[in-house]
Amino acid sequence: VLKYSPFVVSFRKHYPWVQLSGHAGNFQAGEDGRILKRFCQCEQHSLEQLMSDPLRPFVPAYYGTVQRDGQAFNQMEDLLADFEGPSIMDCKMGSRTYLEEELVKARERPRPRKDMYEKMVAVDPGAPTPEEHAQGAVTKPRYMQWRETVSSTSTLGFRIEGIKKANGTCNTNFKKTQEVEQVTKVLEDFVDGNHGLLRKYVARLEHLREALENSPFFKTHEVVGSSLLFVHDHTGLAKVWMIDFGKTVALPDHQTLSHRLPWAEGNREDGYLWGLDNMICLLQGLAQS
Ligand code: ATP
Ligand code: MG
Ligand code: MG
Repeated sequence: VLKYSPFVVSFRKHYPWVQLSGHAGNFQAGEDGRILKRFCQCEQHSLEQLMSDPLRPFVPAYYGTVQRDGQAFNQMEDLLADFEGPSIMDCKMGSRTYLEEELVKARERPRPRKDMYEKMVAVDPGAPTPEEHAQGAVTKPRYMQWRETVSSTSTLGFRIEGIKKANGTCNTNFKKTQEVEQVTKVLEDFVDGNHGLLRKYVARLEHLREALENSPFFKTHEVVGSSLLFVHDHTGLAKVWMIDFGKTVALPDHQTLSHRLPWAEGNREDGYLWGLDNMICLLQGLAQS
């Protein structure tokens, strides 16, 4: 800041931008505090509606679509812009990370998939059945349903996708982090045991829960594969936002979800609030320890 200059000089600091999940080519830098994410209709609809919903303070501001090099992007607020050397965590919410319609589609022509078998074996060589081992392949619906059972998605209603800390350490390998003790340790390490940060995160998440419970949008949508993005820095600033609405879909007319009831195929329950309740409980426990 040029304190004694008669000119107002405004510029943004340059900061390294961090992407914790998704394909590397999905994001580009936008103008001034904005980012571009590869266009997805579902996400556009969701972000548009969220701009006039009680959830607005908890999602990145949406600035419509833009074209760049012949490709379409959704333009949104860069949530990292106000932080100095932030620590970042992406938690994928819900007790299921695929849509019911994806499961139905995957079952239509269940081809044996070698790639999915290999991914399965890499995580747990004992997971495939003897027949699957013999084939060296698994079907997609089988893979989708198995994958949920190895992380905390099935046991806690959320899983940690990735963490990048201010000190440079980065970990996106939490696929098998399932036990509540393991998850708690990871959360504690993320904040370096700082109780002040924990209390800020808990307060923000409690406000988010209230907004979710009052949100017409949330009541009428199946919210799958969406994350909470946790961001804090050395100044003590700590915030959480909802991101990633690529698999957030409207329910048929007049149908609503509790987001807490267990999923049974057909009821479309996503376990989002169940996961958030668990997350708040864990962080509260840590804040008091
Ligand atoms: P996937 O579906 O595999 O999770 P995706 O391509 O849908 O990936 P997102 O999950 O939306 O992408 O975002 C990927 C990562 O990019 C997030 O984990 C986060 O690190 C970063 N990110 C996304 N949106 C924002 C934002 N508005 N501000 C800052 N960082 C963001
Ligand atoms: Mg995501
Ligand atoms: Mg996504």
